[in-house]
Amino acid sequence: MTARLSSTVALVTGASSGIGEATARSLAAEGAAVAVLGRRRERLEQLADKIRADGGTALVVEADITDQRQAAAAVGTVVARLGRLDTVVNNAGFMGVGQFADSPIEEWERMIGVNVQGLLHITHAALPHLLRAAEDPPRRVADLVNISSTAGRVARPGTAVYNLTKFGVNGFTEALRQEVMHKRVRVSVVEPGTVDTELGTHLRDGVRQAVERQIEGMELLRPEDIADAVSYIVTRDRRVAVNEVLVRAGEQT
Ligand code: NDP
Repeated sequence: MTARLSSTVALVTGASSGIGEATARSLAAEGAAVAVLGRRRERLEQLADKIRADGGTALVVEADITDQRQAAAAVGTVVARLGRLDTVVNNAGFMGVGQFADSPIEEWERMIGVNVQGLLHITHAALPHLLRAAEDPPRRVADLVNISSTAGRVARPGTAVYNLTKFGVNGFTEALRQEVMHKRVRVSVVEPGTVDTELGTHLRDGVRQAVERQIEGMELLRPEDIADAVSYIVTRDRRVAVNEVLVRAGEQT
């Protein structure tokens, strides 16, 4: 354990599976006390047990971030229980795929609710605490990392609303970065390619099989590959700001 984040506190949204789970473990391995947020308490408890078994500190925070009050209360709980907030990873997300004309409205609403509004709710509640942490030892810098996607840079047929949300995340990240950079809060975006997680399991029947055919035989990224990118960003010296990291699978166009 290198413990470059010891005496700091991190919050990872969507930590009950996939990229968020791997990121929470990676930040805990760097010495951060980690608050793991999601709706599936049991999965979060299992993760917290693993982090504690490895010698780390973990706090389970059950919340639906599409609800502004739950998101704000979750951030409040983290600060009340762990004392501060130095690092936030806005990772929770949902992807619906398929021709726009055939997409159910509930699917758009869920993508916008989690990927956009949820991210804004957490960011708004967390920012005052990040600004405070950025003034304080031990690091005198704080980090907000938004998990976007290659879909935040490249639009393709079949992902129109997902593209809308992730292009939005990229634009928001860059604007906020410029707003707070002089206060030593670093705002970064990570754009993963295709990662082997549960994200695709939520796709509608028919669409899911088509996506599975597209990636058949391809060696996908693992959640740890993205966790590595996040850890790299947040462990840099305060004079360095890694604004954007795009990580594709080796064979991905
Ligand atoms: P998973 O489906 O494994 O994880 C999604 C996480 O988001 C879960 O932990 C889920 O927790 C959480 N979540 C969903 N809705 C809510 C909500 N309303 N409130 C709180 N938490 C919520 O997928 P990934 O790990 O792949 O996805 C993580 C991020 O990475 C997403 O933003 C996704 O868009 C992005 N991404 C993923 C790629 C991939 O190929 N897998 C590629 C590019 C980007 P719970 O159900 O417990 O609430």
